[in-house]
Amino acid sequence: MTKQRIYYTKPSIGEQEVAYATDAAKNGWGAQCYDYLDRFEAEFKAHLGVKYAIATSSCTGALHMGLSALDIGAGDEVILADSNWIASASPIVHLGAKPVFIDIREDTWCLNEQLIAAAITPRTKAIIAVHLYGNLCEMQALLALGKRYNLPIVEDAAEAIGSIYHGKRAGSMGKFGAFSFHGTKTLTTGEGGIFVTNDDALYERVLTLSSHGRSPTQTKQFWADTVGFKFKMSNIQAAIGCAQLERIDELISRKRDILAYYRQQFSAIDGIKINPEPDNIVNGAWMPTIVFAKNMGITRELLLRLFSEENIDARVFFWPLSAMPMFEAVKTNTNAWSIPQRAINLPSYHDMTNEDLERVANVVKDCVKGCVKIGVKNMAENNRFIEQ
Ligand SMILES: *Cc1c(COP(=O)(O)O)cnc(C)c1O
Repeated sequence: MTKQRIYYTKPSIGEQEVAYATDAAKNGWGAQCYDYLDRFEAEFKAHLGVKYAIATSSCTGALHMGLSALDIGAGDEVILADSNWIASASPIVHLGAKPVFIDIREDTWCLNEQLIAAAITPRTKAIIAVHLYGNLCEMQALLALGKRYNLPIVEDAAEAIGSIYHGKRAGSMGKFGAFSFHGTKTLTTGEGGIFVTNDDALYERVLTLSSHGRSPTQTKQFWADTVGFKFKMSNIQAAIGCAQLERIDELISRKRDILAYYRQQFSAIDGIKINPEPDNIVNGAWMPTIVFAKNMGITRELLLRLFSEENIDARVFFWPLSAMPMFEAVKTNTNAWSIPQRAINLPSYHDMTNEDLERVANVVKDCVKGCVKIGVKNMAENNRFIEQ
């Protein structure tokens, strides 16, 4: 009998989400058409501790408008880590600018702040700090660099709701922050995102851009002051978001408990790194991820095969973006190119049972035991073993 499938992520939708969505679908029109949207933005601002929020159709859209409002365009460069989901880079390209990919740190898998200064040119217009898998970028160093070179630090916090850096929530520290409420994220509205900032002028610009370029002070109907965007969240999506926000602490703490379980299970195995949580950091634990030391000989391909044999949905660590055909390969980003070959994302959805968690942990533990037993000494040897 095949074991029940364990998905890597799945939203937790309760009665309240259904009730609010139903209410929005029935009554959220006419004079009420922005009620849930206004409430969602207000409550998200309060959760994060920021002045302004604009709900969007996606995080990609929020990034696109924010970068556009920073006047990033043709010929400009934006620095970000090579290990990333494509969504952080595509708005840069659509604006006519060039993403400059730098290597990641070995511990947090986020951009290595020590490599930034060397990548800055007269064309550099911004640095995007992506808090990968809930792990936090070195914000103190990044903000200091931003000040020194007069460059905005943008936070892509799509994966970092619940992550806290020295008392400040991810997404609240940079020039602006962007979040995603895609179905795979900790808080979901189906599809959706939000733009957040503490900067008055930037907020005004993005507000205008988000309304097809119509300024909020414009009194003429159907009159656009500039060419803008249409990346809006609907009131029905916001209704689901309001219900999710009421449970945000619970949603985050369940993610953190799952990460803590995996950390404990693998703590005795030398050579496994998991999402870190150093002093003064709270990790929102969006995606528990393990990276094996090179000398263990354990590869992504082996892990994928073992997980699939157990009917468990494991996901690969992000490919280096610079390896994709539309960009120029930056093979000197050695961590970004090497880590994905010996790493895997582990399932972490709210309603996983203890047995589910145990099944996942056992695949990893058995894999390590098995590799030790057959004496695999390096990844090349392991790949030969898989091919047989
Ligand atoms: C999910 C994600 C995005 C994209 O979010 P959408 O809402 O799908 O646009 C952007 N950046 C990161 C880091 C993500 O994980």
